Amino acid sequence: MNELRDVARWGTPADAVSLSSGVRDLLGAALGVTGPRPAAATADLPAGRLSETVLKELRSVCPTVTTDDAARLAHAAGKSTDDLLRLRAGQAGDAPDAVARPAAQQQVADLLAVCSRLRVAVVPFGGGTSVVGGLAARREGFAGVLAVDLAALDRLVHLDRVSRTATFEAGVRAPRAEQLLAAEGFTLGHFPQSFEYASLGGFAATRSSGQASAGYGRFDRMVVGLRAATPIGLLDTGRAPESAAGPDLRQLLLGSEGAFGVITELTVRVRPAPRARHYAGWSFPSFDAGAHAVRALAQDGPLPTVLRLSDETETAINAATGGPQADGCLAVVGVEGTAEDVAGRTAALEQRLAGLGGTPLGTGPGEAWQEGRFRAPYLRDALLDAGAIAETLETATFWDRLPATYAAVRAALMENLSGAGTPPLVLCHISHVYDSGASLYFTVVAAQAEEPVAQWQAAKAAASDAIATSGATITHHHGVGRVHRPWYTREIGDVGVAALQGVKQALDPHGILNPGILLP
Ligand SMILES: Cc1cc2nc3c(=O)[nH]c(=O)nc-3n(C[C@H](O)[C@H](O)[C@H](O)COP(=O)(O)OP(=O)(O)OC[C@H]3O[C@@H](n4cnc5c(N)ncnc54)[C@H](O)[C@@H]3O)c2cc1C
Repeated sequence: MNELRDVARWGTPADAVSLSSGVRDLLGAALGVTGPRPAAATADLPAGRLSETVLKELRSVCPTVTTDDAARLAHAAGKSTDDLLRLRAGQAGDAPDAVARPAAQQQVADLLAVCSRLRVAVVPFGGGTSVVGGLAARREGFAGVLAVDLAALDRLVHLDRVSRTATFEAGVRAPRAEQLLAAEGFTLGHFPQSFEYASLGGFAATRSSGQASAGYGRFDRMVVGLRAATPIGLLDTGRAPESAAGPDLRQLLLGSEGAFGVITELTVRVRPAPRARHYAGWSFPSFDAGAHAVRALAQDGPLPTVLRLSDETETAINAATGGPQADGCLAVVGVEGTAEDVAGRTAALEQRLAGLGGTPLGTGPGEAWQEGRFRAPYLRDALLDAGAIAETLETATFWDRLPATYAAVRAALMENLSGAGTPPLVLCHISHVYDSGASLYFTVVAAQAEEPVAQWQAAKAAASDAIATSGATITHHHGVGRVHRPWYTREIGDVGVAALQGVKQALDPHGILNPGILLP
């Protein structure tokens, strides 16, 4: 029997937040949430399947391999609401049979060689923040499952000040990477909401995108070099920022979600740490009007570092629950850089946004957003405790399809989660912008049904169908994992699947790497 308190949540129990009275009232009155749901205190782990002979072989190349129950439970799931609900119900059936914590890149390579020979499935584990079932590998057909936790590979290997690149081991967590860079006067500028726990290797493996992507870019665009261990040997890619030497092999590893290799080291471009910041709020009369304005900035500039636009519901709910105050639709416009650059871009943005119909709200809402930007996952735990279901999903599409995608996904969620009770809350914001399109990020809050896992899975499937039917992509930054796989394989078609399976067969002939993740 194993303590669930520490794993079935975001952060540690000491970080827990409680709901404000405004949120409690809203849950009861608007959503029909009836009250706290008891969570199981312990979980039963499936019996470990790796024999002593196999464990001995694994330990001969990596002495830290453990079958300790607490370690297995800590690697049993990611951090989707689905994962948390199942853990809260005491279900830990996806727990690996053993956990390895390699202390050197060579140990990863050696582990893969042993696992390939003995047919042990391998789940690379970075920060464990996957929200798409990326850590729940298929176990049938394998001698067992080994989680390879990369946390000990956390060194800054090299900083090249001239080229402005930094080489890190893949297990380094984002806050530590920023700390190491800050000491040298640099930043990576990658701040996803999972920043506190996610790893650089995980960012690369899932093509992550941070909240400041307008200024610093998506994570996959930051990567200039990758090294990965595969069952057939090392793949070392990226000897120049750009190259015409054939297809770009870095692109094979970016987004490969551990199915082609374990990324052990990566080189990323870095920027001088910003000296100044200016975060402001703007309001627009409608989501359409705001979307027109953020598109104008994305296409014709000036481009801030952070650019987000909430729809009417998200703006109203945030204002009602202690967040930034605004009417209509709130846009957060943040600029970072040197003092001179920030002053210049801020002035240019103010002129442009006013011309696009925006109303300036000053720095208050921008700073409030910045201060609370990592708070949502803690709030989700409190919502789950209170008997609500709370989850997010995301997509991206071209500007001309954005209104239709927004309407279709919203309608699918509203319809599917209304059931016999009260309608859910469906909030949305434009979270990342490009000259040709943008991503939409939805947050859903509803009363928990008797079977909340099945309830959410049905709603998620309806939303995913709506995304696919509207011609958008099944994921802009969460990745594919196991949850999005059926829609992803439809998105890339039979030829796309065959191409990726060919790569997998070449790099991983016995299919031990994250079986069932990304590909069937
Ligand atoms: C509350 C919350 C907020 C989030 N916000 C964002 C956001 O703003 N932006 C965003 O992009 N994502 C977000 N995510 C999703 C998640 O944080 C990202 O997918 C992140 O990139 C995963 O990093 P990780 O280190 O935790 O990877 P893990 O969860 O450990 O792994 C993710 C996948 O990659 C594989 N993998 C991990 N490390 C390696 C490696 N070194 N080599 C090969 N494969 C590997 C794993 O096997 C798994 O399939 C959020 C998740 C949560 C729970």
